[in-house]
Amino acid sequence: MRSKLVAGNWKMNGSLAENQALLEALLPALAALKGTEFAVCVPFPYLSQARGLLEGQAVALGAQDVCQFEKGAYTGAVSAAMVADFRCRYAIVGHSERRTVFGDTDEIVAQKFAAVLKHGMTPILCVGETLAEREKGITEKVVARQLDVVLKHNGTASLAKSVVAYEPVWAIGTGKNATPDEAQAVHAYIRGRVAAVDEQLAAQLRILYGGSVKSGNASQLFAMADVDGGLIGGASLVAEEFIAICRTAAVARDKVTV
Ligand code: PEP
Repeated sequence: MRSKLVAGNWKMNGSLAENQALLEALLPALAALKGTEFAVCVPFPYLSQARGLLEGQAVALGAQDVCQFEKGAYTGAVSAAMVADFRCRYAIVGHSERRTVFGDTDEIVAQKFAAVLKHGMTPILCVGETLAEREKGITEKVVARQLDVVLKHNGTASLAKSVVAYEPVWAIGTGKNATPDEAQAVHAYIRGRVAAVDEQLAAQLRILYGGSVKSGNASQLFAMADVDGGLIGGASLVAEEFIAICRTAAVARDKVTV
């Protein structure tokens, strides 16, 4: 059975004082939740602080991006090796904000995915359509293209050490989440596409949903058969909200187990 994963994406938020208060509120509450994995993906400058606070705790550390290049004259960039130095378990690649604001193409995302794997971490690969693409009825085509470029570059087997996050762009930070049925349909499509190549791999692949997940909608989303947890943006900055979402994932997991 796939264990649920809830990962917070802090985006470009936080300060030393805010991070400390947030993590000190989260850690005791999340330690009590068994059988579910949790992570926080923090801004690069705070990896060291978060590493210290998360040592020996039940919450894994993640980064929000890595550079596609190994090292060298790339001013301002942060390599996967550097992120791995802080013992990050996860690194997000292909987040829609990186794609739209910073110009990450499918090819660059595929290279970043490779860099994360090369340094022993688990990429959280984000895919998802814009509102215009959904309205044109090409959601599956877009998600397939985003996934296929990564798999062509890295091989389908690379998914064994990866997590996919379906994040409809129109739902990110907008307060408008995909309905559980809409999310389930795309998750099932992604799993089916992988299953066409390798059924066992598809059965084990964790596919998170991201896009305006809150404590009020998490339980319906996490109850869907192919939704294996969430990538949480805004709500991961509010301790009570993130804890409530994580509890929901733990309960959803228990329901599946029984
Ligand atoms: C995200 O940044 O990955 C995200 C899903 O954001 P939000 O939860 O704020 O929509």
